[in-house]
Amino acid sequence: MTTTAISTYEPLTEAAAIELAAGLLTEGANLECREIGDGNLNYVFRVSDRESGRGIIIKQALPYAKVVGESWPLTLKRAAIEAAALRKHGEFAAGLVPAVYGTDDKLAYTVMEDLSHLTIAREGLIQGKSYPKLSAHIGEYLAQTLFHTSDFALHPFEKKRLAAEFSNPELCKITEDLVFTDPFFDYETNDFEPELRQSVEAIWNNDSLKLEAAKLKRSFLTEAEALLHGDLHTGSIFADDNETKVIDPEFAFYGPIGFDVGLFLANLIVQGITRNREGRETIVRHIENTWDVFETRFTELWESKGIEDFRDVPGYRQSVLQKIFRDALGFAGCELIRRTIGLAHVKDLDGIEDAGQRIQFKKQALRLGETLIIKRSELTSIQDVTALVEEL
Ligand code: ADP
Ligand code: MG
Ligand code: MG
Ligand code: MG
Repeated sequence: MTTTAISTYEPLTEAAAIELAAGLLTEGANLECREIGDGNLNYVFRVSDRESGRGIIIKQALPYAKVVGESWPLTLKRAAIEAAALRKHGEFAAGLVPAVYGTDDKLAYTVMEDLSHLTIAREGLIQGKSYPKLSAHIGEYLAQTLFHTSDFALHPFEKKRLAAEFSNPELCKITEDLVFTDPFFDYETNDFEPELRQSVEAIWNNDSLKLEAAKLKRSFLTEAEALLHGDLHTGSIFADDNETKVIDPEFAFYGPIGFDVGLFLANLIVQGITRNREGRETIVRHIENTWDVFETRFTELWESKGIEDFRDVPGYRQSVLQKIFRDALGFAGCELIRRTIGLAHVKDLDGIEDAGQRIQFKKQALRLGETLIIKRSELTSIQDVTALVEEL
């Protein structure tokens, strides 16, 4: 797709979106458009042909993010980062991300495959869906995207070129603050029910927990291991019983591999907390399978495509996977805590109407978060982790 005649940024209208899409959908099509985004950070237009139903998506970054009623400026460059990350990850996990049809850096939009036949995994999981292939697909996605963009697969020149291309300081700063710092201190971005105050103050007074969170934050800031998605929660995943597609990598950057793994695991854990015994088993299997598939595929890629400097060193792959696992648990712990008491919550917990129940689940999320952070070196298998979820 070619760039349009518009040369300065402006938010698109539905009519403008239809015009942009006209060249991509069938000749003479009878098009309609609807804005379907959540309206906080970005516009998401779905343009479709009234007759065939066939559609495309145009996602446009907005220059301001609306957070708790206030607006803060947020770079439009994230649209280009998102499109480039979808393309780069699509090289290695083609069926697991939407196809990108075009981009415009000035207008900060990406034209991509319409996934409206799928549902956002968080929504489906809350309704009790089991998504039998979710963990196999995400384990595969994680191994393919993270291995292939790491120093285990790339020439160091290419790796450093990509790390520079995907420098994403403004979006990283949001994560640095909201995930690793604010929830551990009495900052005004935090948001929690009064019934949780005692548990929250225990976190603010827990020096050893804060020490570990600081170490994890530094790892996030400094360890440029692979091209991360950067925001891999279940709201960034479209799914049904057969298909899984990862969307929304606007936080993509070179960071520690365990961050993507840990974020996904934490969002499964949150869902597991809210389920009854039987439903929880489904989630426990997904948690275990995510790690198993990731580890198995990562190992295969290491053996078949790994750079020999690392590949041929006895024990090194095991040591790398052990570090990824430990990091993932620490990051998962931070995610559990920040999704419970930080600025951005999850519907899995906040949507529970019974207040007593909701508070109990949130306390469990906080306790599990603390345990994962503090004990991440002692928990050596994924079963050690799922045992904690099953014990609840
Ligand atoms: P944000 O960065 O603002 O969270 P997302 O990329 O997560 O934006 O998209 C917001 C919503 O728009 C999604 O939850 C989904 O409902 C819809 N959406 C986004 N991408 C697509 C797509 N490719 N196909 C269909 N719907 C989409
Ligand atoms: Mg959103
Ligand atoms: Mg999103
Ligand atoms: Mg987003």
